[in-house]
Amino acid sequence: MSHSHPHNAKHSDKPTSCAHFINGRFVEAETKETFDTITPATGETICPVSLGTARDIEQAAAAAENAAKTDLRRMSAADRAKMLRRIGDLIESETEALAQLETLDTGKPIRETLHGDIPRAATNFHVFADLCAHQKLDTWLGNDGARHTVYREPVGPVGLITPWNFPLHLATWKMAPALAAGNPVILKPAELTPLSANALAGLLQEAGVPPGAVNIVQGLGTNKSGTAAGESLVKSSAVRAISFTGETVTGSAIMRDAAAGLKKISFELGGKGASVIFADADLELAAKTAVNAAFRNAGQVCLAGSRLLVEASVLDSVMTTVIEETRKLRVGDPSDPETTMGALISREHRDKVMGYIEHARTLSGVEILVGGKIPTNCNPAGAFLEPTIIGGVQQNSRLIQEEIFGPVLTVQVFHTEEEAMELLNGTPYGLSCSLFTRDTARATRITREARFGLVWLNCWNVRDLHVAFGGMKRSGIGREGGQHSLDFFTEFKTVTVPGPARN
Ligand code: NAD
Repeated sequence: MSHSHPHNAKHSDKPTSCAHFINGRFVEAETKETFDTITPATGETICPVSLGTARDIEQAAAAAENAAKTDLRRMSAADRAKMLRRIGDLIESETEALAQLETLDTGKPIRETLHGDIPRAATNFHVFADLCAHQKLDTWLGNDGARHTVYREPVGPVGLITPWNFPLHLATWKMAPALAAGNPVILKPAELTPLSANALAGLLQEAGVPPGAVNIVQGLGTNKSGTAAGESLVKSSAVRAISFTGETVTGSAIMRDAAAGLKKISFELGGKGASVIFADADLELAAKTAVNAAFRNAGQVCLAGSRLLVEASVLDSVMTTVIEETRKLRVGDPSDPETTMGALISREHRDKVMGYIEHARTLSGVEILVGGKIPTNCNPAGAFLEPTIIGGVQQNSRLIQEEIFGPVLTVQVFHTEEEAMELLNGTPYGLSCSLFTRDTARATRITREARFGLVWLNCWNVRDLHVAFGGMKRSGIGREGGQHSLDFFTEFKTVTVPGPARN
């Protein structure tokens, strides 16, 4: 097999190149152009990455269409399940190397990639291997004796577009169900984090995934001439469905491009989650959970509890614990196992987050309670920022209404349950929230009142991969998870056989 020199997850040394993966082979961009991927903890260049354009997407689409007609079509669900299980097993056996690679590319702590991102990527394949093996047909017997059987068929080549905050975790969260449902896929990873998808490609070869069943085109989302890999994937006539995770504004742009081809879309977009702490809650548990919800992955989490709403009577005691716990966070070199908060994804993003903190300093009545600065004990060339807590912010402030996507927690006070729910629901987003109370009647009322796709009672980010995952309002369209993901990647075809003749 002829290919350029792909980085293989087996070698844990720094990769030297990152190519596309099309029709089972590693290939350069047709234009031969590349861009650099940078490690945010030091600002150093890791390696050049193939800069994909519409031409590469065309190649990938042709390979995907061919796989849809040949190898993938011939695979039984049982064979697909076996293939998915093999991929999951291979990821598991490469956990260490993949975790190091992901940490290098994202700047997130090795303890998170090693125990979070990479095991989750393996689990994504294992969960959908099981679901794939247990799909059943739906058959209805009509009153007139007609038999209606609902068959599940793949939608056709599907496009997967993913963000940088959980690169392998989110790419596989889409890839596993797409393959389980029998679809060839074209993945466009985030340009800031191309490496783990490239390493995955090596494992797909090893797992015997048929050529064209998974294609990966690296590159930008959009460019001035409209030929970037992301937008070209959305516009490709071969692609029947787009599953996208990323920013809300990007979702709008993709929806416009997908409209011409009337493509199916599934969107997981931004969030502005909150932790709401009532006076009757287990305050210590609530405060500690709120800190974790705000600062995990330096707040670059769609599910982040980036707003803290506290009942006035317990404000002091809650804030004492919140500030204490935040001060315990260890910001620094992400490859150090002791580090609990690494670098942000890039210097540009750090500056954008810092812009919100600078804005906060101009508001009257607003106070920076913790952090707010670039830490002095970290590599100055890295994209580090102190975990920051801001008090006294008004509901209509940009700090409350916009997704900051960094280590910034705002604090607001409420006096009644009604006020708490108004503040909670009073943003354009509706992905996730955490509600803390020990009163069961209140819990019933507020979980019903909350306009969010995910509502955690006395916890945060407790997940099961089978349940519906996704957001309301500007946080998304559709749901992922278990059968929801499989249904998105499926066309239903009802075949009817008439009943016995009447005369
Ligand atoms: P982003 O929208 O900037 O980019 C996401 C992907 O879309 C990248 O691969 C990018 O290249 C591509 N893209 C950009 N413009 C495009 C276009 N016009 N056409 C096609 N593709 C295009 O998002 P990001 O900054 O990488 O990620 C952070 C965002 O993702 C945050 O808003 C976060 O809340 C969200 N997110 C949501 C979830 C969820 O499950 N709801 C999970 C993780 C992240």
